[in-house]
Amino acid sequence: MVTVDSFVVVGAGLPGIVSALTLAGKGHQCVLLEAAPDIGGLLRSYEVDGETFDFGTHFANLTGIDELDRLLFGGREDAWVEYPVLLAGNFWNGQLNEVSENPDLNSVSQAIHYRCLAELLSAPGWHGSSNPENAQEFLISEYGQNLVDVFFNPVLQKFTGKTSDALFHNANLLFNLKRFAVLDVPTTDELKRSTKFDSRIAFHHRKDFKFHKPCLYPKSGGIGRWIETLESKLTMAGVDVRTNAHIESVGIVDKNINELVVDGQAIGVKGLLWSAAPATFCRLAGEDIGGVKPEFRSTILVGLVFDRKFSTNCHYITVFDPDFHSFRITLYNNFRLIETDLFSATVEFLVSPEKIDSLDWVSVAVDEMIKMGLCNSDAIVKKHHIKTILNGFPVQSNQSIKNLDEQVKKVKAFKNVHLIGRAGGEGWFLDGLIRQAYETASIIG
Ligand SMILES: Cc1cc2nc3c(=O)[nH]c(=O)nc-3n(C[C@H](O)[C@H](O)[C@H](O)COP(=O)(O)OP(=O)(O)OC[C@H]3O[C@@H](n4cnc5c(N)ncnc54)[C@H](O)[C@@H]3O)c2cc1C
Repeated sequence: MVTVDSFVVVGAGLPGIVSALTLAGKGHQCVLLEAAPDIGGLLRSYEVDGETFDFGTHFANLTGIDELDRLLFGGREDAWVEYPVLLAGNFWNGQLNEVSENPDLNSVSQAIHYRCLAELLSAPGWHGSSNPENAQEFLISEYGQNLVDVFFNPVLQKFTGKTSDALFHNANLLFNLKRFAVLDVPTTDELKRSTKFDSRIAFHHRKDFKFHKPCLYPKSGGIGRWIETLESKLTMAGVDVRTNAHIESVGIVDKNINELVVDGQAIGVKGLLWSAAPATFCRLAGEDIGGVKPEFRSTILVGLVFDRKFSTNCHYITVFDPDFHSFRITLYNNFRLIETDLFSATVEFLVSPEKIDSLDWVSVAVDEMIKMGLCNSDAIVKKHHIKTILNGFPVQSNQSIKNLDEQVKKVKAFKNVHLIGRAGGEGWFLDGLIRQAYETASIIG
């Protein structure tokens, strides 16, 4: 079928799905193109031996925008379980912190704690007229050299393979590395009255933070159940969804994309919403993509099924400790409403692509879960598997961000092309990206 004057959305991650639904809801013809066999992007679940695993930790957030929430969650209100607060913990300096996702400086020696704290309280913050040169410059101005040495550099090295001097100035935000618990609860309460300290100091316990966004998770299945529901909504809205789609060429007239050739078929384009890599668009449009190849950490997902309960009730744990390989551990039975005598978890590792085969990741995952005290040493692993996402986490070096910015500028020079999703470089966390995609589609539709 040849469509004319369609809005075409490229990439069917959640931002792509949201913009297609928004445009179709406004009565526009809309084609959603996805290169993979299934829609959902990174927000998918998969089944192995009867057990469901997600691609990492994924909960849905209500956005607070009525129309968008209706689009995302409406019609099947009974299908979700709502968590007012996620039970997120962390592991650092050999200590499991089950009550907060933020690192606690009480876990380092008192001398180091006090040195870090003194600098953190007196650090001037970044006041330069231009952006800091790199993450190191920013982090020292915000937190002081001691915290950079004790926390930021080892953790960034572990997560990205680079220390702060080689990373973009706000590379810490990709991992939400912002606040530290210090001293005790009364002192924290006092310090957090100041805006300056509030942005650097964390509550000791998640219960003291009053502004949690409620999170939703499907009552049955994994987070991929959400994508299945949205897939039906796309069909009902009349969106032409094409998976395994290969874009062969684009037609350009006066800096407008007027046609896309997809699997041998021409699609007339009114507007193009692009959530695939900007470099892919540049290549198709005959634009130079610059010399720096973007670097990614591959994500190794180890799925484990144990024969007994976990020793923590946390939903997930972020592992800052540089002596441990794991990055994040999701403990499904702690938030899924299932009656079962099997207990499943995903352990994520962020590694450089050439290290994918360097370790026996299943053994490492089990060993580290036991060492962290997440499960008993006599727990038996009944099933396990490994899955790899090759281009998962971007490594935000100065050069790769500069290159991406240049590509983004080239895409934006096309009058009817709009970047959405993480590819645009303006966001990473899902709730912000969904909102941006909805707003973009609402404005152009
Ligand atoms: C392992 C991992 C865990 C994460 N965990 C969290 C989390 O806990 N919380 C959170 O908020 N964020 C998390 N994120 C970040 C967040 O999931 C992503 O930023 C978000 O899903 C991005 O959505 P997107 O649509 O931009 O990208 P994607 O979900 O990657 O979707 C892009 C889609 O475009 C398709 N595509 C690519 N090229 C083409 C092409 N040429 N033609 C057609 N289609 C194409 C891809 O196949 C894909 O389906 C995580 C990311 C990773 C990698």
